[in-house]
Amino acid sequence: MLDAALVVAAVVIALLVQYWYVCVVVAALISLPRIIRRIKKNRYFGSEAFLRHKEELTSVVAEHNEIVSYTSEIRRRGFSHIGASSSGSQAHLAAFENTSHHAYRRDRNMADYAGTNVHNCSLQVVRNAAADPLTYLTKYFRISADESVLADVEELGENISRLEDAVGNLRQRETGILGSFDPPAFILKHYRDEFMRHVGVEFSPVSVPYPEYLFEYVSAGGNSAQRTAIKLDTPKIDALIERLSEKIRFGTSAAGQRALMTAKLRGFIKQRDNYTCRYCSASVVREPNLLLEVDHIIPISKGGLSILENLQTLCWRCNRTKSNKVARD
Ligand SMILES: [Zn+2]
Repeated sequence: MLDAALVVAAVVIALLVQYWYVCVVVAALISLPRIIRRIKKNRYFGSEAFLRHKEELTSVVAEHNEIVSYTSEIRRRGFSHIGASSSGSQAHLAAFENTSHHAYRRDRNMADYAGTNVHNCSLQVVRNAAADPLTYLTKYFRISADESVLADVEELGENISRLEDAVGNLRQRETGILGSFDPPAFILKHYRDEFMRHVGVEFSPVSVPYPEYLFEYVSAGGNSAQRTAIKLDTPKIDALIERLSEKIRFGTSAAGQRALMTAKLRGFIKQRDNYTCRYCSASVVREPNLLLEVDHIIPISKGGLSILENLQTLCWRCNRTKSNKVARD
C-alpha cells in the first residue's frame, strides 16, 4: 500500500519536473485576477478623487471616531447586575469527580453551577420558562418587586438603550460615509475594511452586551441538555419594568407617583423637545445623524426623579460633558 503511494508520488513529481512550465502557467492564470484587482485597488486609493473626498470628510470621520470612544466609555461604565440564581451557590463546597470507567463517554454536558446567570433546574422548568419568561425570570433569579430593584432595572434599560442608540448611530454614519464615496463594487466586495482604514474610520463595537439569563437542564448522565435563554434587550427590560411596577403599585402605590423609564417615555421626551438638544440647540433638522439622549436634569444619584419635568433631551456631546462633570462632583 505504502509502495503504491510512493510510486504515485514519484510519477507526479517526475511529471511536475518535466512539465514545470505548465504548472507555472496554471499558477499564473489562477493568481492573475487577484493581482489585477490589487493593482486596481491601489490605484483607487491613490486616486486624486478619493484623496480629495477623504480630505472633505475629515470632520465627519473625526466625529464618528469620537462616538466610537464615547461608546466604549458607556460600555466600560458597566451595567448593574440584576438578580441571581441560587442553584449551585454551595457547589464550591464539594468536589465533583466522575469515577466511571467510561468517563470519556460521559460529561459531554456538564451543569454550570458557577454562574449566577444560570439556573439549573428540571426539564419542566426549562420549558415553562420559555412559555412565561418574565414570571420565571423574576421567580428563579429572585428579582423582587421593590423600588430599588425597579430603579436598577430602569438604569440597566437606560444604559442598554443608550448603547443601542450609539451603535445604531455609528452604523448609520458608516453607511453615510461609504455611500458618499460611492466606491466601485469590487472595493465594497473585497476591500471594505481596508477602505474604512484608508478613510480613517475607527471600528466600532458590533454588538450590545445584553445580560442573558439561562434556565438549564442537564440529564443525570450528561447525555442530554436543554436550555431556555432570556436575553434582556430593550423590549424585555421594558416589560420587566412594567411587571415590577404593577406589583409595587398593588402593594404600596408609591411607584405610581412617577413615570417609568421605558423606551416609550424616552421617545416621548425626544419628541416633546423637538429632537433638539436643550443645552446647545443642536437638532436633527440640521444634523440628521445627531445622536440624542434623554437625561435626568437632577441625576437619580442626587435624588432626581423620573418625572417629565426632570427629563430633557441632550445631544451626546452635551450629555457626555454633563455626566463627566457629575462624576467629578
Ligand atoms: Zn448639545
